[in-house]
Amino acid sequence: MIRFEHTRKLYDGAAAIRELNLDIQQGELLVLLGPSGSGKSTVLKMVNRMVSHDGGHIFFNGQDINSFNVQDLRRRMGYAIQSVGLFPHRTVAQNIATVPKLLGWDAHRVQARVYELLKLLALDPEPYASRYPHQLSGGQQQRVGVARAMAADPDVLLMDEPFGALDPVTRAALQLTLKTIHRATGKTILFVTHDIDEALLLATRIVLLNQGRIAQVGTPLELLQQPANDFVADFLGRADLGLKQLSLRTIAPHIQAIEGTEPIHAIAHTATLREAISQMAALHVSTLCVTDAAGTLLGQVRAADLLENQHA
Ligand code: ADP
Ligand code: MG
Repeated sequence: MIRFEHTRKLYDGAAAIRELNLDIQQGELLVLLGPSGSGKSTVLKMVNRMVSHDGGHIFFNGQDINSFNVQDLRRRMGYAIQSVGLFPHRTVAQNIATVPKLLGWDAHRVQARVYELLKLLALDPEPYASRYPHQLSGGQQQRVGVARAMAADPDVLLMDEPFGALDPVTRAALQLTLKTIHRATGKTILFVTHDIDEALLLATRIVLLNQGRIAQVGTPLELLQQPANDFVADFLGRADLGLKQLSLRTIAPHIQAIEGTEPIHAIAHTATLREAISQMAALHVSTLCVTDAAGTLLGQVRAADLLENQHA
């Protein structure tokens, strides 16, 4: 859906992106990860031509992005950034409606879309639709920013550290909302962050950048288990690799039938290995019952199995 071929970018003669080759498939939640200055934002901005590239090509749906009318290109790509950029003198509804109105949607369709998006982003249309940005918390403003980026149902969402300024609790909630939206809509999302945990949580695939080059491309597990070089291993934090892997796997494959006495404590079948093991440690037990969302008993998990078969 988006393809970089030998793409380069210079700022004042200095290379920000050296030679980028990357093929992004429809429906990916691709995270551009890397230290500050590694070129993440530049990659994102080249896609919607907020900055031009100096060498190579970028294709969108098979067509060179330079062959598009730039406004058309941008309308097909929602853009959300950290400092939201909501219009202060427009209500939440008016902010979200910006692009649909530019596209000439009728009032009824605009209103329906605004309500649909507010619900999708877990904001009650009453009272929020008629509020102004300064009447919202930072997390709520960010939700409106995401809703606005999605308003005209763009093919691609470009998100540059959209949750960077939020407190950890709000940030975690928005990460989950984004994951839910991605699952529900199958949208192609390019998401920039320098936060490793955010990348591991969200990404279907991670592109790790270092000084304008790709250090490694792969799924979160691939990067954790097979770092391509020392930079990747260092960046992901060698010390916690084990724990991070535990957070990426759920207990579901380890559930077995209960034999003998039923364990006293229970955990949800969607729990990660890390959650299960820390719960066992806190409760001083080595087995837990596993239940589904309705509380039905599915079986049990044992500490030894959770720790042993990790690489299976
Ligand atoms: P990241 O988003 O990973 O922090 P950027 O893409 O913003 O990195 O920047 C990559 C490199 O390009 C950095 O060295 C940065 O200083 C430089 N750079 C970015 N934008 C500009 C600009 N408008 N003018 C000059 N240099 C820039
Ligand atoms: Mg940046």
